[in-house]
Amino acid sequence: MTVVGAGPYGLSTAAHLKARNVPVRVLGEPMDSWRSRMPDGMFLKSTPFASSISDPAARHRFEDFRADQGQAWVGDRYAVPVAEFIRYGEWFQERCVPEVQRAAVVAIEYGPGGFRLSLDTGEVFTSRAVVLATGLSSYARVPSELGPLVGAGLASHSSDHADLAKFAGQRVAVIGAGQSALESAALLHEAGAEPVVVARTRRLVFGSPPEYDQSSDRALPHRLAEPGSALGPGWQLFAYSRAPAAFRHLPDTQRAYRVRTVLGPAGAWWLRERVGGRFPVLTGHTVWSAEQAGGCVRLRLRGPTEVLEADHVLAATGYRVDVERLDLLDKGLRRALRRTSEGAPRLFESFESSVPGLYLTGLAAVDTFGPVMRFVCGTAFAARRISRAVATGGL
Ligand SMILES: Cc1cc2nc3c(=O)[nH]c(=O)nc-3n(C[C@H](O)[C@H](O)[C@H](O)COP(=O)(O)OP(=O)(O)OC[C@H]3O[C@@H](n4cnc5c(N)ncnc54)[C@H](O)[C@@H]3O)c2cc1C
Repeated sequence: MTVVGAGPYGLSTAAHLKARNVPVRVLGEPMDSWRSRMPDGMFLKSTPFASSISDPAARHRFEDFRADQGQAWVGDRYAVPVAEFIRYGEWFQERCVPEVQRAAVVAIEYGPGGFRLSLDTGEVFTSRAVVLATGLSSYARVPSELGPLVGAGLASHSSDHADLAKFAGQRVAVIGAGQSALESAALLHEAGAEPVVVARTRRLVFGSPPEYDQSSDRALPHRLAEPGSALGPGWQLFAYSRAPAAFRHLPDTQRAYRVRTVLGPAGAWWLRERVGGRFPVLTGHTVWSAEQAGGCVRLRLRGPTEVLEADHVLAATGYRVDVERLDLLDKGLRRALRRTSEGAPRLFESFESSVPGLYLTGLAAVDTFGPVMRFVCGTAFAARRISRAVATGGL
């Protein structure tokens, strides 16, 4: 068995496979997306409780890491700095999956004996089964109007940057209203850039600060009305976080709708004061065209402000799963993958795709198992399912 990717989902899956005595090879740079595709200075939106990577014995949770480092327990009111989460992921990897091989897979083909994987080291080998845990980056979505500007270096996706300080002194139009847009704008502002947020929504939404460090400390009537969950409070989020297996049985259109709408764009509670009144926010605006004007960009907007000029456009416009964008799979393999009308892979309850032996996890599984797959807290469900299926299938 080969696991491609050494982020939270790859590491967790490998740890669970090892516990079931499945020989596993793990490829990828550990926690690389968190280091190179998220901004320095970022904080996690998920709480410490919801930020644990699953290992079979539950001895390598975020709180275990902190205890191991001699740091006090922290609860829901603590925003986890990205640098701390990266150290946690590395700590998890060193203890649970020390054998990770820091190589990138450049191509996967299907042939006699299984999958043929080519690495950037020049090595080629065959594996009977593969778990693709390659994360979000292949699915980054930039609005088509901005496409030509990307080639000219005048627009980029938020996942293209770890260092937003390089925009100091520049006018940056940030497109989006979610956590990534609002936090990027705050970081840009704090680094001496001049961000302007362009948001489709009529108003910005922020979470409410938790009253307690543990959801279970709330009064019983509150807990009954709005139970706590890894995805946030409320029965709906409780169901999405506790019953991802049931999500798979909803009709296609329902699943697609819920994936698009549950947890709509919102900033974390601690972001409100770093955004409000600090820089312009154009709510109720959409971009309908973008052109190069001298060395900068002219955006034409639908909304009260019709034209906005900027030195750079940052599209914090999220991700859309589409198997066509998994270009590390050869064309034949991609063609063999059954998919939804939206282009997401159809997965069995074991996370196996329609190609026997090819498993997809993490964001790629969001259309099958729901919103929990977008977050680290989904690693427990995914890793257990995959490892059980592989171990009992005798691969
Ligand atoms: C700005 C931002 C903030 C976020 N905040 C949170 C949060 O607060 N809480 C939360 O739970 N989630 C958060 N997320 C979502 C988070 O990214 C995912 O939950 C998590 O990273 C998914 O883990 P993963 O292992 O699937 O993917 P990743 O963490 O992306 O890991 C994928 C790994 O695969 C490797 N890889 C890719 N291609 C190859 C290849 N060809 N060969 C070898 N290796 C490869 C990459 O280098 C990477 O190490 C955030 C995402 C973004 C973009």
